Amino acid sequence: MYNDYKEVYMKNNFCPQVALIMRSDKLIEEFNLQRTTIATRYGPVHRCYYGYVYGVPVLMIYGRFNGEKAPSSKINHQQTIEAIKNSGAKKVIGTFVVGGIKRQFDQGTTYIIDDFIGMGNYDIDWDFNYPFHNAEMIQPFCPKLVDLLERASVKADFPVVQRATYVCFNGYPRIETRAELKFYEMIGADCVGQTLDPEATLCRLNGLCYAAVAVQIDSPSSRREYAGELEHRAEANPYKMSIEECRSHSEFIIREFLKIYRHEDCGVCAKLKRTNNNFREFPKNFYD
Ligand SMILES: [Zn+2]
Repeated sequence: MYNDYKEVYMKNNFCPQVALIMRSDKLIEEFNLQRTTIATRYGPVHRCYYGYVYGVPVLMIYGRFNGEKAPSSKINHQQTIEAIKNSGAKKVIGTFVVGGIKRQFDQGTTYIIDDFIGMGNYDIDWDFNYPFHNAEMIQPFCPKLVDLLERASVKADFPVVQRATYVCFNGYPRIETRAELKFYEMIGADCVGQTLDPEATLCRLNGLCYAAVAVQIDSPSSRREYAGELEHRAEANPYKMSIEECRSHSEFIIREFLKIYRHEDCGVCAKLKRTNNNFREFPKNFYD
């Protein structure tokens, strides 16, 4: 319902089974993934790489920024998800760096996300040529993909939190205040970020299976220490572990996931994409 394009978007009729939204130079180099450009209604997406990783045909979308970095509320998630849809992939894994909320979890902790809390503050363009409906999100992530990611994470030698809840706010642009972190902990969130939604919602509206892996790059205590150090020094490093090192955790899980991945149709997610063709402004017989 989102687009009716019938053109062939992928070279050589390559049909990816899994789309990965991640920045992994290592996977691109090691598996010799080829770059391609995918057309969308929002303009071309050049940061697309495709090929076989552990035998699985994948499309990697290199991050969420097309050309320039932007505040999260300005990211064109619709363009990314449309590129994935046009590639023919039906399953999507988003990878994220997130902020820590809970005292017991430190940098490098990795989360297999099972639910999220949206704090809103974003909007998507709706094509009014298509009937509108709200996405059904009682089960926001594909249970089969989540299950596979959990199995993939068993071999990790770093802490992994299963069935985690991600709280998502968009932009302002800033990261969280102390009071917000307390609030997020109180409402049951495990980690916080700015990009999981509307990505998750758009996947549902497009009938795609979606799951997410997130790695924590800071913690409330590391951020306090960072601010404290700046009292005595001209500059300080806010991260104990480099972001690159943190990202290697999600890459590890994606690699293990692809090693055990077997293609099977998911009976649920595509059906949760509902359509609403019955909207009427008011009954026909009320017209003059
Ligand atoms: Zn599914």
